[in-house]
Amino acid sequence: MNKMSVRDYDFSGKHVLIRVDFNVPLDGDRVTDDTRIRAALPTIEHILKGAPRSVILMSHLGRPKGERNPKFSLSPIAPVLAALLGRDVEFVGDTVGDEVLAARDALPTGGVLLLENTRFYAGETKNDVELSQSLAQIGDVFVNDAFGSAHRAHSSTVGVADHLPAIAGFLLEKEINYLANAIKQPEQPFVAILGGAKVSDKIGVIESLLDKVDKLLIGGGMANTFFKAQGYELGNSLVEADAVETARALLEKSGDKLVLPTDAVIGDKFDNGAERRTVKVSEGIPEGWAIYDIGVETLAEFGRVLDSARTVVWNGPMGVFEMSNFAKGTFAVAQMLADATEKGAVTIIGGGDSAAAIEESGLSDKITHISTGGGASLEMLEGKELPGLVALKDK
Ligand code: AMP
Repeated sequence: MNKMSVRDYDFSGKHVLIRVDFNVPLDGDRVTDDTRIRAALPTIEHILKGAPRSVILMSHLGRPKGERNPKFSLSPIAPVLAALLGRDVEFVGDTVGDEVLAARDALPTGGVLLLENTRFYAGETKNDVELSQSLAQIGDVFVNDAFGSAHRAHSSTVGVADHLPAIAGFLLEKEINYLANAIKQPEQPFVAILGGAKVSDKIGVIESLLDKVDKLLIGGGMANTFFKAQGYELGNSLVEADAVETARALLEKSGDKLVLPTDAVIGDKFDNGAERRTVKVSEGIPEGWAIYDIGVETLAEFGRVLDSARTVVWNGPMGVFEMSNFAKGTFAVAQMLADATEKGAVTIIGGGDSAAAIEESGLSDKITHISTGGGASLEMLEGKELPGLVALKDK
């Protein structure tokens, strides 16, 4: 990575403003998964060792749409972070302004302060200059460690970097290095697996990956749109009519690289208790039934392709994995990635549902890199520049 990182900077005596990704799942005011908080610890701990005057952390959480909504407050995160860091973390109920500056100045030397949700200000998602300047007043230096938000040009990720020395945290650096290497110089065979509901969300990624991979395995609801393009009957399966033409064009251009499911687990309603059957896709899906998972024959074929892979990238579930009866394909692919890693392949998971599936399988430590950012990792794989990264100081 050609950007300045926290290891290149002297933090002594400085107020250090860090954009982290603490967009964690909450149940009321309980943090149900602290993965993203733990992912920020190396950067915070490194900076604290550099004798700063203070460390101020900011993040968004959810989509409060520019309004103060206590449901999206970051206050429940402060005690979780304090326990992980083993030191006090103060919380202030605002994001910018006098109350924040006073809370910062009241910290003991080396104290840690967590700000309220950046998206309580409507200016955040508009990259508003005034908000960016107010954020910049809080620190002497800005560190961006929020990979999950690096694809957004917001005040706390991009605007603030116009007014302060701006450098990358360890998490941002690690994510960029893994994802950039995977697409720039993957060891071959390079295999990508894409799933999830929609083709339309992922056309850019499909096109860009098709230039680079040896094989692209497609599962999940998005495979249906390709089946439609092939002329199969799909019953009630999710199909994106608008994307059928694109799917047809992709099949024509790169059919040799695309590996589509040949069988599917279908259900007679969208319910975990639905009646289930496994059918060949080419025989068509009966009226009233829909595809909710990939079948065993498909899994065997995916397994064969993955067996020789040296680099594997996976994004998106193979079926409606939120329902246990349609989760088998997704969890089997998770196991295949773990097996591939064991055989020496570099395996990368692009956040979101696939990361959740790996976590749930207890296989996280068998994957080379699990990205903390779904959208950001897809944009990286698509070959796009991330605005949050572009805004940082070059080395
Ligand atoms: P995405 O956000 O596009 O990655 O899609 C993730 C969602 O796709 C998950 O909530 C899955 O339940 C859903 N999904 C995967 N396969 C199917 C399918 N065959 N039919 C309907 N939804 C699906």
